[in-house]
Amino acid sequence: MRAAMKAIYLPGDKRVELRSVAIPSPGPGEVLIAVKASCICRSDLSLYYGNAVVGGKAAGACITGHEPAGVIAETGAGVRAFKTGDRVAVYLGIGCGVCEYCRMGNFHLCPSWACLGFTADGGNAEYLVVPERNCLAIPDGMSFVAAAISTDAFGTLYSACKKLQVSGATTLGIWGLGPMGSSGVLAAKALGARVAVFDPIEERRHFALKLGADLALDPTAADARAQIAEFTHGLGLGAAIDCSGNAAAQNMALDAVRPLGAVAFVGEARETTIRPSDQLIRKQIRLFGSWYFNIAEYPEITRVLIDHAIDLERLATHRFSLDEAETAFRLFDERKTEKAVFVL
Ligand SMILES: [Zn+2]
Ligand SMILES: [Zn+2]
Repeated sequence: MRAAMKAIYLPGDKRVELRSVAIPSPGPGEVLIAVKASCICRSDLSLYYGNAVVGGKAAGACITGHEPAGVIAETGAGVRAFKTGDRVAVYLGIGCGVCEYCRMGNFHLCPSWACLGFTADGGNAEYLVVPERNCLAIPDGMSFVAAAISTDAFGTLYSACKKLQVSGATTLGIWGLGPMGSSGVLAAKALGARVAVFDPIEERRHFALKLGADLALDPTAADARAQIAEFTHGLGLGAAIDCSGNAAAQNMALDAVRPLGAVAFVGEARETTIRPSDQLIRKQIRLFGSWYFNIAEYPEITRVLIDHAIDLERLATHRFSLDEAETAFRLFDERKTEKAVFVL
């Protein structure tokens, strides 16, 4: 019998359970990671409310947490690329490894995938076991907190920016300034874009300006459209990312993008209403969903973070121990935090 560890479960109805469970053992090709940092994400709130946005498992079936980083504590048989003591972040999609999507590096598109924290035990615990191929080597000089934020928050927005071909010639709009939108500001500025951000919460707009956004607008303000026109020389935005999942924001983004522009939906939304003729067809806009990143992108993501001296720890406004999980999820749910991180 292995020793016990603390682990956080979210069985629904805003219940947060800190359970004591056995430390898992790494099987062949797997590693045991001692977790050092694990972030809370907006998608975790679907479990918090008992309506999991990923996978078909009931809330509370697995240890939560899909954005962990830590140190390899034990390796299973046949592990070759990593060793005890290596510092790693974790890729959230556990794929079969041999299907077309896995071989492309999109483990999260694998037909038989499991998702860390949703359908496989995740990182809101003292330890977790993952396949060796899910380990993301983190560079010297990157903290565990920054590494955890570099995956689903920064990595997701960096990947969306790449798909939008964001460059120094781009005027980019970002709707929704939670940790995703804030990461988007950092990613887009590193790629050289001019960035306008939209959020009704004033503190979040101020924070985005500190992170480097060029213009921050309340989307409900009467002059928002006029300000977008002035910012873009009357042309409209070249590209937009919606991180809010809010129908009004999605529509405002589609309206604000100029002909031949592109829009990425990143914020989770179960349904929406848009106006395809006016917003897409007449303007020949490219609209696509973007979710997480290809595992092959991670070395580039870390290079950009290091080379541009991007301090992701700035996004971690709140840090908690596992014992404080109830407070952590409550404050995150109330949008009182940017990134909330369990630090062990
Ligand atoms: Zn996440
Ligand atoms: Zn696969």
